[in-house]
Amino acid sequence: MIKKVSVEPGCTTCGLCEFLAPDVFEVTDISHVKKDANYVRNAEAIKEAAARCPVQVITYQDDDADSAKD
Ligand code: SF4
Repeated sequence: MIKKVSVEPGCTTCGLCEFLAPDVFEVTDISHVKKDANYVRNAEAIKEAAARCPVQVITYQDDDADSAKD
């Protein structure tokens, strides 16, 4: 389950993440993660946006992929 989504510095405001996951990302001056975004419902779109971001600045924490707790 995706717990946290972040946009690291370096976004070029291409708009792709907002196109792929409009419920999660909002591109204004840079891309932002919406406060009330539902990560569970949009998990596949988040993963696709992270994979396809041209500058690879979208990161997320996925419990299924990373079972180590800190
Ligand atoms: S896909 Fe990447 S570069 Fe494009 S708007 Fe989203 S975060 Fe920024």
